[in-house]
Parts: sequence; structure tokens; C-alpha cells
Amino acid sequence: MSAPPTNSIVLSFEDARRVVEQQAALIRASEVQAGGSQVRGTESVDLLSAAGRVLAEPVVADRDIPPFPRSTRDGYAVRSADLVQIPATLAVIGEVKAGEKLDKIPSKIESGQVASIMTGAPVPAGADAVVMVEYTSQHGTQVEITRSVVPGENIVPRGAEARENALVLDRGLRLNEAAIAVAASVGKSRIWVYERPRVAVLTTGDEIVDVEATPGPTQIRNSNSYSLAAQIQRAGGEPVLLSIALDELAGLRRLIAEGLKSDLLLLTGGVSMGRYDLVEQALSEMGAEFFFTGAKIQPGRPVVFGKCGTGECGADTPVRERPVTYFFGLPGNPVSTMVTFELFARPILEALAGQSPRQRRFLHARLKREVRVKPGLKRFLPAILSGEFEQSQVELVAWQGSGDIAAAARANCYIVIPADRERIAEGEWVAVMMR
Ligand code: AMP
Ligand code: MG
Repeated sequence: MSAPPTNSIVLSFEDARRVVEQQAALIRASEVQAGGSQVRGTESVDLLSAAGRVLAEPVVADRDIPPFPRSTRDGYAVRSADLVQIPATLAVIGEVKAGEKLDKIPSKIESGQVASIMTGAPVPAGADAVVMVEYTSQHGTQVEITRSVVPGENIVPRGAEARENALVLDRGLRLNEAAIAVAASVGKSRIWVYERPRVAVLTTGDEIVDVEATPGPTQIRNSNSYSLAAQIQRAGGEPVLLSIALDELAGLRRLIAEGLKSDLLLLTGGVSMGRYDLVEQALSEMGAEFFFTGAKIQPGRPVVFGKCGTGECGADTPVRERPVTYFFGLPGNPVSTMVTFELFARPILEALAGQSPRQRRFLHARLKREVRVKPGLKRFLPAILSGEFEQSQVELVAWQGSGDIAAAARANCYIVIPADRERIAEGEWVAVMMR
């Protein structure tokens, strides 16, 4: 057998990312054209199980938020003009607690008057500020106030957070706890979300056996399908594990065709330069188009990204009316598989999930120990971030290279080293990609 005949397209990390982002934008554009939910199914879920799902409906405020001018403090609702001279002694004409019935609230605060008020309670008409209770002392129906206030102080005006019918959450938002709070506040006990895209995982390699099997002396257990399944789920997809493909073209083609019925296909292994690395060859013979067949990164250099059109790659009856199905050939080394999923497959998965684009999240931390590398590749090296906030520090974990799963499990992040750096000194700020 000879090496795969595909022309190699090796891009810098930045160019490879750009290609991925462009394709993600095309996915979003084509789905907008097709009316979104025609391509991707939607389902209604209970708000309690909506975290992490992608919103499929615009959510609007069902009334002004807040629905009344809301006091943000315990204290006294006052007319600020009455406190130009302090201390001032004013008449307490009532008390307003949170949830007070309308007919119990003083209809108007006149000059010289105040109402005692609690956090979250509606500010009566006439009052334009709230003085915190800490600056007051009440004796019977009189209160002495020792602090002046500016108009509006400690009051959130009616509708200041959102007007009735205003859009508060848009389609494509990945629901986090804050978005869920907003949904709850406008009365959405159930909410429409997009169905999760199905992501086929096809592991290749003559040496790979499934977790349940007892490996022979030269065999190893399949860990990539499981790490990928975890990453797919976390990114909002539904993993579909295919059977393990041997390093042999016919079987590989059959499983690739099966995998292309999902919304996205991830292959692992078989993309390096070895004689039995047949993934590119199989895909290329099936009519696939490649965007790149390598990226100047470590780990993960042989990563492959491409697409198959409808009717190509043996997928004559795609499950959905998708004009193209994307695939990634992720390198087989387990840490490379994890890193390349995060860097390249995840943005495509998120686009297929209906999620609006977002930047990769990263942070900066000080390097605990000097790092030396050969320049030329952008590196994403397993590392441990420790200390909190201003004290954060990060250091590489000792590892045996990109096959070292145990080191990857000891790590909690990756240090990102630019391709042109050879040495990074102790104490320097470095970019850190979180898991
Ligand atoms: P390959 O990319 O096929 O050359 O594989 C690179 C390395 O990753 C080899 O040491 C493989 O044995 C290992 N590997 C490939 N696939 C898997 C997998 N599914 N689980 C664990 N290790 C794997
Ligand atoms: Mg292999």
C-alpha cells in the first residue's frame, strides 16, 4: 500500500481557524436561508433541564422589568428636594414592604413626608429617591435623616431593565444560568430549544479494541471515542459511536458512509504519514473535498478538515436536507484528539447546534516555570493552573508526549505558546485555554 495521494494542505493555526470560522458562518447562513428550524429540529423543554441548550425562540419581556419603580435598599422613600438641608426631620406616613398590595401603598408622598420602604418594594408616587436606613433614626412617626440623596438614588425605574415586548434573549443563545433567570422572570416554564446535532465518531486502527474487550499484548483500548463523546456532549451535540474501523479501505469507506448520515463526522487516527494511515485516501477516493490536511500546531499537526456534498462520499440519502456534511480527521494520539476537537471541531459543532458565534474562552496566567520549545508550531500543552485570581499560576505537566492520557488527566488546562516563541520566562503572562 502506498501513502495517501491527497495533496497536502498544511495551514498555520490562525489560517486553519479562519477556514473553520468561514465554514461555520456558511452553516449559519444556509440555515437562516432555509428558515432555521426546517434544517434543525426544535423541541420544547422544561426550564429546569434547559441549561446548556441552544435557544430556538426569541424571548420577549411579558411586561416592563421591573414592573414598578423598585427600591434597591431598605430605608425611606423621600423627595430628594426635602433633603437639601440635613439633618432633616420628616413625617413617616406609611410602610411599603416587598409585594405590598397596591391599595396599602401611600398614593403620594408630599413635601415633608416619607414612607418607610423595603428592598424590592415599589416606590410610591411623589418620592424620587430612597435613603438607606443606616442614615436615619425613626422616633414614632418622625424620622431624622442625616444624608442627602440625588434624584433616582436607590431606585430602578419601571422598565429600566427591559420594556414590555422587548427582546431579552435571542435565538442561538446557549442558555446559562443568567439566561435561565431571565426566562423564568418572564414566565417561561418551558422553552423551545434546538435539537442536538448528531455527531458520528469513527475510531480507526488495527490495534484498537473496545473498552469491554480484553486487549491482546499489542492492542490498546479505545479511549478516543469516549473522550470525544464527552467533549461532544459538553459542546451541545449527541455522540453516535460507530464500530471501530480496521486500517483497510473497504471497511473504512463503509463506516465513513454510515458516519456521514449524522450531522457531523469525526474520525480519529489514520491521518498521519504512516503506510496504514488511510483516512485521507478513503475520503478522497469517495469524492470528499479537503480544506486542510494539517495545521502547524502541537499536538495535533495532522488534523484534517473537509466536507462531502450531497450524493458524494457514498452518502446518497442524507438523513437531513443538508447540502454538505462536514468531517474532521482527528489525529489518533489521545491528547491530539482532545486538543484538535476543541480548536477546530467545536466551532463547527456549535454552528450545527444553532449557536451564535462566540470567541474561544481563554485567560491569562503567570508562568510558574520557564518553558523552552522549538519554534514553528503553535503549542497547546497540558498544564496545571493553580492559585486564585491575582495569584493564578500555570505550569506544564510532565508528559510523555501526545499519547500520554494520564498526564492529560492530571492537567486542567493548556498553555498556549505562539509559534514564534522559543523560550518563555518564569513569571511571564501566557494565554491559557481551559478545558
Ligand atoms: P494514528 O493517528 O492512527 O497513527 O494513531 C496515533 C496513536 O494514537 C497510536 O499510538 C494509536 O495507537 C493511538 N490511538 C489511535 N486511536 C486511538 C484510540 N481510539 N484510543 C486510544 N489511542 C488511540
Ligand atoms: Mg492508526
